[in-house]
Amino acid sequence: MTAAKIFRFKGGFHPEDHKKLSSEHEVKTLGLLPRYTVLLRQNVGAPPEVCVTKGDHVKKGSCIAQPASFVSVPLHSPVAGTVGDLLTVPGPNGSPVEAVEILSDGEDMQEWDDRLEPILDWRDTPANVLKKRILDAGITGMGGAAFPTHVKLSPPPEKPVDTLILNGAECEPYLTSDDVLMRSHARAILTGAAIAAKVLGVTEIFVGIEDNKKEAFNAMEQAAWGISSAAVTVVPLPVKYPQGGEKQLIYALTGRKVIVGALPMDVGCAVLNVGSCYAIWDAVLNGHPLVERITTVTGTPVVHPGNYRILMGTPLSAALEGAGGIRENSDVGKIIFGGPMMGFAQYSLEVPVSKNTSGILLLERSEVAQFYGGPCLSCGRCVEHCPMQLPVSTLSKACESERYDLAKENHVLACLECGVCSSVCPARRPNVQHFRKAKAELKELLQKEKNKKVGK
Ligand code: SF4
Ligand code: SF4
Repeated sequence: MTAAKIFRFKGGFHPEDHKKLSSEHEVKTLGLLPRYTVLLRQNVGAPPEVCVTKGDHVKKGSCIAQPASFVSVPLHSPVAGTVGDLLTVPGPNGSPVEAVEILSDGEDMQEWDDRLEPILDWRDTPANVLKKRILDAGITGMGGAAFPTHVKLSPPPEKPVDTLILNGAECEPYLTSDDVLMRSHARAILTGAAIAAKVLGVTEIFVGIEDNKKEAFNAMEQAAWGISSAAVTVVPLPVKYPQGGEKQLIYALTGRKVIVGALPMDVGCAVLNVGSCYAIWDAVLNGHPLVERITTVTGTPVVHPGNYRILMGTPLSAALEGAGGIRENSDVGKIIFGGPMMGFAQYSLEVPVSKNTSGILLLERSEVAQFYGGPCLSCGRCVEHCPMQLPVSTLSKACESERYDLAKENHVLACLECGVCSSVCPARRPNVQHFRKAKAELKELLQKEKNKKVGK
């Protein structure tokens, strides 16, 4: 291993991390539930198409939906049981979404579907076979965007990738699921990374971990020796939000800049979350599709904050119950899927956990940040801290008056939605909410124009 130079990205800030609440307890597994609702749309791209019918018997890991296109992944049953209804349930981003109901057979010793056989000799297995396994196991990004992993591992020939980056930064306050996974399963994560490196044909693997996770760093460094034919370098990164943003991470570890509108592959990089690498190991070495994950359930209102192994399709209410429920006298002001900076507020306790549910965070009403939309003071703090160096105050005013043409000219589409500009704003302007809305409007407009062109 060689020492890596670290490049410091501009902007960002240091929020209180609140990680101790959940990081110091052992990972627990939630008990079996009678019923799961598995969301169909769990990945970026096309949702898969259901391939089972009501009354079918399924094993744990049986395929229940097939990919609908190249940018799509299959879905699998989290438990053995019977297929129930195709339902509409509340989704994590607030809109109703389709889900497949699975009624558990109640057996604690769940038998896995054995259609995906373990590939123990993965080092001698062709790259295309390994990539197919990653697709067949339904693996997506598990840190946030849920981008299908097999697509990340398929750069076109004109964009060769030479570097694989493992994202173990976990810079969002409160979240510790990646930290505990690295502490307890470093070798499995790095084996998954070695498999991904083989698929990509890269010669260099960097693992970026924020410097506040010493135990995880040591575990990953120890496990890195001899694990891959690619050179593996585990790098401690400065603690600064959003260090785990894809663009910021690539810059920090390689000095390569991903410009507005470009992708990591445009600078020869592929970035995978450590959870996705663990899922690759499980899919290849054990033949298990992605049906569960470690999720941080935390916040001062939670009786037993910690990290929990949770099956996909588990309702938020059951995950909370598994963590001991809510403390008496708590006045919960907000429930968030993800962290406080980039997560989404939830309005129903029936929202199911899915592949990218890194955390379930409860905040007391007194802890919830309030944004009033007061007039901009032109203080420039947002511009100074924006990790994308965007003209934030200009953008904020343009979006507020729904001048989305101006917002587009000022690169709103490059906004990471990291929330830094809202957090540092003395006027408590809801900047990031404005930008989310503007981006959604502009994307819809773009889609309409595309449809017009192809005569839809
Ligand atoms: S939310 Fe967007 S505009 Fe605001 S700091 Fe983050 S990247 Fe910059
Ligand atoms: S930080 Fe807030 S008040 Fe200051 S310039 Fe930015 S939007 Fe305006």
